[in-house]
Amino acid sequence: MDEHLLEVAKAAKGFMPDDEGMALHRAGLTAAASGLGPLLEVGTYCGKSAVYLGAAAREGGTVLFTVDHHRGSEENQSGWEHHDTEVVDPATGRMDTLPFFRRTIESAGLEDVVVGVVGQSPAVARAWATPLALLFIDGGHGEEPAWADYNGWTPHVAVGGLLAIHDVFPDPADGGRPPYELYCRALESGGFEDADQCGSLRVLRRVAPGS
Ligand code: SAH
Ligand code: MG
Repeated sequence: MDEHLLEVAKAAKGFMPDDEGMALHRAGLTAAASGLGPLLEVGTYCGKSAVYLGAAAREGGTVLFTVDHHRGSEENQSGWEHHDTEVVDPATGRMDTLPFFRRTIESAGLEDVVVGVVGQSPAVARAWATPLALLFIDGGHGEEPAWADYNGWTPHVAVGGLLAIHDVFPDPADGGRPPYELYCRALESGGFEDADQCGSLRVLRRVAPGS
């Protein structure tokens, strides 16, 4: 990956270790080269993972759509483990990561490749029709938002395309269940097979159409 982009990715706020970011980047390169469609991420936050995927999209001549309402997940709110007071809008007291995302993508020079979609993931998914070469699920990790993302977005992954899921913890002592349950469902559905993994990142390949 380009040195400058790697620097920007490492410096951005977020919850993605460098080795997992590079694994995501590699999945993005494979997907972008497949010509099956654009890449799409659910859960932008401040754009850290979007730089890893955006760099891949640029190399492969495609784009990355990244969806977020920018108000934070339950686990990002005040009082929770992953809260960062810097991303709170002082005028309203609510989280707003959109300015941080814009700065990250501007610094990376990826404004022509990374398309931010601001809104509720299920609302965007309902109106979506373009087959995806790669879907990365890293939005809300609660039961409801995680399953809404799985059900709303995985049908759009093209056969031969990739499904990446972050924060997959087989051992409950390491973290929450829903991302792991999504991963298990994808395998059990018969629609996906394992392609790669690094840390809590899982990458699956779609081998049959369906949900
Ligand atoms: N992928 C990012 C981290 C994402 S954190 C990285 O690695 O850098 C999870 C994000 O999901 C938060 O920014 C939160 O606002 C967003 N999110 C949670 N539920 C959502 C929903 N229903 N619709 C849109 N965005 C959502
Ligand atoms: Mg994550």
